[in-house]
Amino acid sequence: MADFFIGGEWVASRSGRTREIRCPADGSLVAEVAEGNREDTEAAIAAARAAFDNGPWPSTPAARRGDLLLRAADLLDRDKDAFARAESLDTGKRLVESEYDMADIAACLRYFGKLAGNDAGRVVDTGNPDAFSRIVYEPVGVCGLITPWNYPLLQTVWKIAPALAAGNTFVLKPSELTPHTSILFMRLLAEAGLPDGVANLVLGAGPDAGAPLSEHPDVDLVSFTGGLVTGRIIAATAAATVKKVALELGGKNPNIVFSDADFDTAVDYALTAAFLHSGQVCSAGARLIVQEDWHDRFVDELVRRAELIRLGGPFDTDAETGPLISAAHLEKVERYVAAALAEGAVLRTGGKRPDDKRLAGGHYYLPTVLDDVKQGTSPVRDEAFGPVLTVETFTDEDDAIRIGNDTHYGLAGGVFTNDASRAQRVANKLRHGTVWINDYHPYLPQAEWGGFKQSGFGRELGPSGLAEYQEAKHIYQNLRPAPQRWFSGEAR
Ligand code: NAD
Repeated sequence: MADFFIGGEWVASRSGRTREIRCPADGSLVAEVAEGNREDTEAAIAAARAAFDNGPWPSTPAARRGDLLLRAADLLDRDKDAFARAESLDTGKRLVESEYDMADIAACLRYFGKLAGNDAGRVVDTGNPDAFSRIVYEPVGVCGLITPWNYPLLQTVWKIAPALAAGNTFVLKPSELTPHTSILFMRLLAEAGLPDGVANLVLGAGPDAGAPLSEHPDVDLVSFTGGLVTGRIIAATAAATVKKVALELGGKNPNIVFSDADFDTAVDYALTAAFLHSGQVCSAGARLIVQEDWHDRFVDELVRRAELIRLGGPFDTDAETGPLISAAHLEKVERYVAAALAEGAVLRTGGKRPDDKRLAGGHYYLPTVLDDVKQGTSPVRDEAFGPVLTVETFTDEDDAIRIGNDTHYGLAGGVFTNDASRAQRVANKLRHGTVWINDYHPYLPQAEWGGFKQSGFGRELGPSGLAEYQEAKHIYQNLRPAPQRWFSGEAR
């Protein structure tokens, strides 16, 4: 099974091992793929190193690198149906959501494609007519890119597009659960004309196929999106070779609703914030913080509507959300809910797998609302990464901000209010990397994405997303070289 793309060739795993990929919606076999280990990843690193040190890509004019990304966007538009189908089979998410993802991915490719040639550096005023000084941007080198399973190709292209725009080479290790769109994307990059060895792909489990990307001295940068625990391991390992590290980690994101908001809008968005993709979204508004005078009415309506959410597989056009990624993840969500109930949370709806025979075989969990969750307890601090919404109340603006910031995460959050100045005040004081006002979840390729606190460091998207993959180099030239005579050179 030649599923690894190394040095421009499709190769099999050295061990000959394979892994079955099964659709989370019904357990059906999607395909068997090669399973890599350290040796496979080391071979991919060697190919990326050679392509960086000796190949044409790093010195290709930036605008031409951008053209390649624009071509890749066009090819993705051409093949979007096959990509969306592959993404849905691996993740179990509804086909329509995968289709949205492909449109977002093409937009990201176009954004970085156009940004690539825009900044040729700058001249620094030396104040000296006989000296010339400039700043140029250079690629960092070989990038190790490690991505999760919830938005497999989207998270991957958020890294690949700026990395290529800046002239780097890379080794990609996608989640072992969702490899197919990465395989398709390597073919697409080759078709777009990317030189051999610039893009390399290995598949397999994190501690085997992924770990060399944070350990190996020939990798200059590791960019990781995934869970906090893995992020800590990667940052610690990367420290041994002082790699550049970018981490996009989890979140426990507050969605703050003031009782001066539009009621129906706030309920509607609270549902989307929590239950989109069955809550398997890093920025999910899994923590509803509602003003106390609205609590009863708001939660009653939320529960009524949560119970109407229709579950189903990727190709069920009636479905509104899908399964969890795996049996292991479903069990983790179940443990999270059991622990929350043990800590005094009140189960308002859900809290179990659906009885529906139609869904047997898939990893489904009912949209769940846990009310009266105590501030400072683990259910409002830990990420469930499933369809579980916790509810807390607040009294006034200061209280809302205090509760919203009471988390070691800092990825995203929402504020619903019709008071425009309050909206800005609260957004300014929330220690989260993205704050949506009277909305939830929209992101823009031209706006930075990234976490405060333990949600990570480094930025994706926007101009800083490109800067993550560049080194700024200062070049100073003396235009009239002559002996300086700092030391006279004469005997006294
Ligand atoms: P995960 O940390 O288990 O795995 C992520 C990736 O890391 C996978 O490819 C995995 O194989 C690899 N990996 C695991 N151990 C490794 C190791 N020791 N060395 C190198 N690689 C290793 O996360 P997941 O379960 O795939 O994804 C869910 C998490 O991702 C959630 O916490 C979610 O919040 C987070 N996430 C964050 C963002 C963001 O933008 N901040 C976006 C999507 C997902």
